[in-house]
Amino acid sequence: MARVAIVTGGTRGIGRAICENLRDSGFTVAANYGGNDQKAQEFTAETGIKAYKWDVGDHEASLAGCAQVGEDLGPIDAVVNNAGITRDGTLHKMSYEDWHEVMRVNLGGCFNMAKACFPGMRERKWGRIVNIGSINGQAGQYGQVNYAAAKSGIHGFTKALAQEGAKFGVTVNAIAPGYIDTDMVAAVPEPVLEKIVAKIPVGRLGQASEIARAVGFFCSEEAGFVTGSTMSVNGGQHMY
Ligand code: NDP
Repeated sequence: MARVAIVTGGTRGIGRAICENLRDSGFTVAANYGGNDQKAQEFTAETGIKAYKWDVGDHEASLAGCAQVGEDLGPIDAVVNNAGITRDGTLHKMSYEDWHEVMRVNLGGCFNMAKACFPGMRERKWGRIVNIGSINGQAGQYGQVNYAAAKSGIHGFTKALAQEGAKFGVTVNAIAPGYIDTDMVAAVPEPVLEKIVAKIPVGRLGQASEIARAVGFFCSEEAGFVTGSTMSVNGGQHMY
């Protein structure tokens, strides 16, 4: 029987590419999303992948959402924690709400999804968890103390949970993407983006499919000896 994977924030951007890649590798895939129903409907119509709406920052909703996916598709074997938001601003302008919301969704979402899915993986002695961090969690970024802290936290979370999963066949890895051509980056003002691209040695933004292929590797059978690892996929922008 096909293994089941869930991708948070899976209906657009990097998440959508991850869903399609995992589906093409033989997983039965569920995509979670936060609120954009129209995008989710288009996604399901175009990919044939079922979409489930809940806020990954909400603990109870994440437990209930994963239980529903399990009921519909079978036990969850792989989780890709991809959902993420930005609420940028320099510290002196950043509100507590913007700090907290980014921590709640980006880092809290990883905890909530792991609480829902890790115990079953551990029992069944096979699992794959892939957390999407960021170059800005490795290097920091002006105007992003909230986002950089949450993404940096994801890299620590990954290494800690990897130690807990290792004996049970559950691998936990992270990807640290550089700048990828999605809606999130489209929100960056053009002059700022030009400066960013000038600093990328390969001379261009990354594509969502390039992150998806890295996730596909971590989720494969063949990657069973790879755990606690962070793969940088950033065009050489930050060699960590
Ligand atoms: P997008 O903004 O294009 O898509 C974000 C996805 O996350 C959407 O599906 C959105 O759902 C979902 N989402 C947002 N908040 C929630 C929530 N509370 N609960 C559930 N789902 C939610 O993002 P990208 O594809 O650009 O980024 C994907 C990941 O990659 C993020 O974690 C981001 O931080 C990380 N990343 C991106 C980089 C880039 O250059 N693009 C660089 C480095 C890291 P909905 O459509 O319903 O809003």
